[in-house]
Amino acid sequence: MQEEIERLARWIAEAKKVVVFTGAGVSTESGIPDFRSPGGLWSRYDPNDFYFQRFLNSEEARERYWQMHSELYEMLKTARPNPAHYACVELYRMGKLSSVITQNIDNLHQEAGLPADKVIELHGNALRVKCLDCGRLYPREEIQRRIDAGEKAPRCDGCGGLLKPATISFGQAMPQEEMRRAEEEARGADLFIVVGSSLVVHPAALMPLFAKEAGARLVIINLTPTPYDDQADLLIGGKAGEVLSEVIERTKEVLRTN
Ligand code: NAD
Ligand code: ZN
Repeated sequence: MQEEIERLARWIAEAKKVVVFTGAGVSTESGIPDFRSPGGLWSRYDPNDFYFQRFLNSEEARERYWQMHSELYEMLKTARPNPAHYACVELYRMGKLSSVITQNIDNLHQEAGLPADKVIELHGNALRVKCLDCGRLYPREEIQRRIDAGEKAPRCDGCGGLLKPATISFGQAMPQEEMRRAEEEARGADLFIVVGSSLVVHPAALMPLFAKEAGARLVIINLTPTPYDDQADLLIGGKAGEVLSEVIERTKEVLRTN
C-alpha cells in the first residue's frame, strides 16, 4: 500500500483543486456503522419503513422513523471526528481542498473544523429538523427533548405540519442547490478522492463520474470494491483514517522538499 500512498501524496502536491467525496465509511472509525455492517442500526429496521412516501402517508411509519432516528441521534451526539475527518481539514489548511462533498448526515466534517461552506451535504444533516409544510428549521436537540418526553411523531409549532429530520430519505427529492454545487465542484476538480463510499447510492454516486469526465484524476479509498473501480486512476483498499493520515504526512514532506 506504501506505493499507492506515495503516489496519492504526489498527486495532491501537484493538484490545484482537490475535491473529497465521502460516504458512511469515513465515519465508521468514529463508531457510526455504515449501511452494510452486520448487526448495525440499519439491519434492525425495515428499510421499507423509511421511504419518504411511507413517512408522508402513515403515522405508524413516522413513529418508527423517529424511533430509529432517535437511536441514530444518540450515536451521533457522542461520536467524535476521526483522523479521516481531520485529514480533510489538513488538506484545507494546505490550500489544496476546494470542498468536501458528503453523503453523510453526521456533521463530523464540520465538527473536525472544516468551515461549513466547504462541506456540501447531499443527504442533509441529522442535527436539524425541518417542517415539511412551512420549511421552519428546529435544532434537533429541542425536538429530541419533546420525543424523550413522550411525543412519537412531532409536528410543527407554527403550522401543524409534519416534522422530519433534515435528511434525505429514499424517494425524497435531492436538495437542488447542493446538487448543483456538487456537480460544479466535481467538474472543476483536478483530483477527486472518494473515501468510504460504496458508490451505489444515486444520484450522489454520479459525482466521481462527472469529475472523471471533466478530466480529473479519480482516486477511490474504500475497504470493499465499488462499481466504479475500473474508472479509477488509483485504488486504495485500506481504512480511511489510517490511509489519509499517512497520505497527509507524506504530502507535507513532498511539499517541503519541492
Ligand atoms: P455505504 O454504507 O453504502 O458504504 C460505505 C462503504 O465504506 C462500504 O463500501 C465499506 O466497505 C466502506 N468502509 C467502511 N468503513 C471504512 C473505513 N474505515 N475505511 C474505508 N472504507 C470503509 O455508505 P454510502 O456509500 O455513504 O451510502 C450509504 C447512505 O447511507 C448514504 O446516503 C448516507 O447518507 C447514509 N448513511 C450515513 C451515515 C453517516 O452519516 N455517518 C451512516 C450510515 C449511512
Ligand atoms: Zn411548519
